[in-house]
Amino acid sequence: MNSQIRIVLVEPSHPGNIGGAARAMKTMGLSKLSLVRPKRFPDPQADWRAAGALDIILDAEVHETLQSAVASCVLVAATSARGRHIPWPVLESADFASLVHKKYGFSDPIGIVFGREDSGLTNDELNLCNLQVRIPASNAYGSLNLAMSVQVIAYDLFRIGMDPDSEHDVWDRNLATHRAVESFYEHLESVLTAIDFYDPDNPREAMTRIRRLFSRIELDETEVQILRGILTHMENAMN
Ligand code: SAH
Repeated sequence: MNSQIRIVLVEPSHPGNIGGAARAMKTMGLSKLSLVRPKRFPDPQADWRAAGALDIILDAEVHETLQSAVASCVLVAATSARGRHIPWPVLESADFASLVHKKYGFSDPIGIVFGREDSGLTNDELNLCNLQVRIPASNAYGSLNLAMSVQVIAYDLFRIGMDPDSEHDVWDRNLATHRAVESFYEHLESVLTAIDFYDPDNPREAMTRIRRLFSRIELDETEVQILRGILTHMENAMN
């Protein structure tokens, strides 16, 4: 059972999909489910669709925000069937599974975020994530059912974890958590505003681009501390 990978469903509207996602997870050895503002939960339909995975439903965490659901994760992946305005790194599901296995060895907390049945994830939610994962599907209609997309992603992770020949790197450093990196962005934004580089009333794409830059490079704890230290010294110099 893998307890480092957290499946996060944002505002699911049908409890049946929550149950279906739980069952998909358990069949593929995943156990951590988080729900952000579910419309109906708990609900008998979720329990019924979960079948033998009721334990995952009972253990599911409910969060008010996506930030709090992924706060402890060192990598957050958004799943999406669509491309977006600002190009963000997009991996196909199988390549994402390889990355998780090779780089993180299933030992660091990772969040995989799924969107609403009708409208997916907002751009702000996508911007909170390090990368996007896409399940290859028909150009004519590539939008899978929510629980089924959980199944496919979990299946790819399960398959790669089963392969005894696949190698993974060993990390000698502690990666920064999502919470730590978000606090860094807040600090950076306030310093950039103070030096008039950044205008919160007319933000354009600056912070999105900066987020994309830092989310590509897997900041570790020490690096975030150094960056925060630089910002603090800049603030002191200004005062
Ligand atoms: N109309 C919505 C579809 C949402 S489907 C949209 O275009 O965004 C519900 C969720 O299932 C999505 O937010 C995503 O998390 C997942 N999903 C569906 N199809 C997918 C695909 N081809 N690749 C990755 N995730 C997918």
